Amino acid sequence: MVTLYGELENMLYEINEKALKLESEGKKIIRLNLGDPDMDTPPEIVEAAYASMKAGKTKYSSSYGEKKLREKIAEVHGVKAENVVITPGSKFAVFATMFLTLKNGGNVIIPTPYWTAYDLIAKSVGAKTKLLRTEMEDDWEINIDQLEKLVDENTKMIILNNPNNPTSKAMDTETLEYIVELADRKKITILSDEVYAAISFNKTKSILDYDSEHKHIVSNGFSKTFTMTGWRIGYLIGNKMFIDNITKLNQITFNNVPVFIQDAALKGLELHQKIASAIKAKYKERADMATTKLSAAGFKFTKPDAPFYVFPKLDDLDSERFTLDLLDKGVAVAPGTSFGDYREHFRISLTAPNDQIEVGLDKICEAAT
Ligand code: PMP
Repeated sequence: MVTLYGELENMLYEINEKALKLESEGKKIIRLNLGDPDMDTPPEIVEAAYASMKAGKTKYSSSYGEKKLREKIAEVHGVKAENVVITPGSKFAVFATMFLTLKNGGNVIIPTPYWTAYDLIAKSVGAKTKLLRTEMEDDWEINIDQLEKLVDENTKMIILNNPNNPTSKAMDTETLEYIVELADRKKITILSDEVYAAISFNKTKSILDYDSEHKHIVSNGFSKTFTMTGWRIGYLIGNKMFIDNITKLNQITFNNVPVFIQDAALKGLELHQKIASAIKAKYKERADMATTKLSAAGFKFTKPDAPFYVFPKLDDLDSERFTLDLLDKGVAVAPGTSFGDYREHFRISLTAPNDQIEVGLDKICEAAT
């Protein structure tokens, strides 16, 4: 029996469990530790799910996903429906892609700071990870020479997260172009996780803008754009062979995302402009509040290009200690060490009601002085 759990621990999950326990004991915790929006799923989406269920769409269905939804996603991204497969959340999409690409060995290059799951998924499928450090002082840009030096004959994949969790930084277009050129030259697949792109404050480039032949893969989802985290629906865009292979994996695992959830997601895409712009405006307000308060308190950070996160730095901070002390004071955030070797940073998720964020930020600023 192989046990994975020791290796797969991360303080991000530990803090969350602790926060839940404190809440169950009756303590009030301001939850700024996870990217789980406080807002409700838009009512039109909920109604669409309900109507679909009432219409009897409660059976097994295609492991590719529903035709109408794949067509709509294809239209949004300017690809063909055969290049799209539906998954239960984009986390599973990332897992499935890494599993298929890395299960026979090889290494994956992951720029840091990273979304915690990339590293844990790579380890869980037995792949080697090569971490590529980026720094706040360089605007979190990937250094292309360092990237090229990390590539070896066993490199199978480069993961990009654009805009990034935890920094909320969108990639510079030139860097993105270089990376695609390097990956094409070295025959390495890029997995581009673009879950924050549609609600990014400024328009960001997609890997699809450089990849008409689908050598690379995009993972995306509905959780962030449509406030649908608990619905568990996401998708992958790739070449037909890759999509067929993911579908085979779907067939032997969850089979299909419930059709009524796919119908709800379709409604979300149909109302995309209206929903995404309202969500964006709300997060922009929060990001402005956070950046004003954090700057006044002396934190350093890059201005968020996308909603949800700020990743401040304080010189000589022990972020794990800071995070635990802050939890005792009723505010949950995530330590920088959950996203790589970033002991002086911590991540604030702006995914609570504005009044709670305000109190949480005040407590954070107080705790740092
Ligand atoms: N990618 C990134 C960068 C994320 O931050 C998250 C969620 N925190 C996900 C993927 C997963 O989202 P979901 O599975 O809900 O689509």
